Amino acid sequence: MFMPREPIVNHLAANPLDRTAVQRRNVDWVNGVLADPHTRYVAVANGQNLVTMDKPAQAVFLCGQEAVHLGKRAGSRTVLGAYDGVYYVAINMDEPKQAGEAVALSGGRYMDLKKVGPAMDPAHAATLAYANAMTFWHRRHRFCGACGTKTAVSQAGHVRRCPGCNVSHFPRTDGAIIVLIIHGDRCLLARQAEWPKGVYATVAGFLEPGESLEGCVQREVKEETGLTIDKMIYHSSQPWPFPGSIMVGFHAHSADTELHLSDEELEDARWFTREELEREVAEGSVLLPHKISISYRLIEDWLNRSFAESS
Ligand SMILES: [Zn+2]
Repeated sequence: MFMPREPIVNHLAANPLDRTAVQRRNVDWVNGVLADPHTRYVAVANGQNLVTMDKPAQAVFLCGQEAVHLGKRAGSRTVLGAYDGVYYVAINMDEPKQAGEAVALSGGRYMDLKKVGPAMDPAHAATLAYANAMTFWHRRHRFCGACGTKTAVSQAGHVRRCPGCNVSHFPRTDGAIIVLIIHGDRCLLARQAEWPKGVYATVAGFLEPGESLEGCVQREVKEETGLTIDKMIYHSSQPWPFPGSIMVGFHAHSADTELHLSDEELEDARWFTREELEREVAEGSVLLPHKISISYRLIEDWLNRSFAESS
């Protein structure tokens, strides 16, 4: 039976902007947004976001004059959308900035959103993440993949058109699955060798072309652990634009429990009851992933039995 429930909003998923998807096709409307003195600019340089020097850092939204001053060599501009009557535009500074270096006049510095985002206003962090994704895509798609001609920005930065072969190129997002494997009253957590000592988390992997998300869950779990998934349920998703992914989260039931860590990606994997996991976390012998990660949410909802289908 279909059981309605509130959508789970993960870190970086709380984007409040109206994406103005219909209006952005109109060139006059786009020019009006860029000429509007209330429009604010979200600066990105080399994948880093402009934030204040405060602790915790806050997002810096530039006015038009500041954006022009800072972005003399600026690249693409993308109208991200509107909130409370104000338009937000991502601007690709594309200048070599050292992380943490103060940026004159803006009162900010460029920082890695993965580091400063967790302490920020969730709506601001999500807006910066969206700007990251768009500016990265522009940087990587300056030329047509079909004929090699230089592409031109269209539809307020949401399309790049090729004047050579008339193809439209759209922003891409790479799908990845992330899954908490469950059998009876235990869940499986695994660790990769390069992770900090003691950290255990869920299994994850990239979706391949021609593959369903469900098929990807079954393949990744089989490749990494040797287990066979016979049931699964969608949990939630998390944009991860570093540079352009979305993590699609599941709880999945394994038909068996015997592990074969075959593809050398995992250093270790262990089955935990709720009591074992809570005790080991309390003792410090097991560390869970960061609380803002979808991996943590998948584990937390199983521990708390707060995800209806996880018991
Ligand atoms: Zn082309």
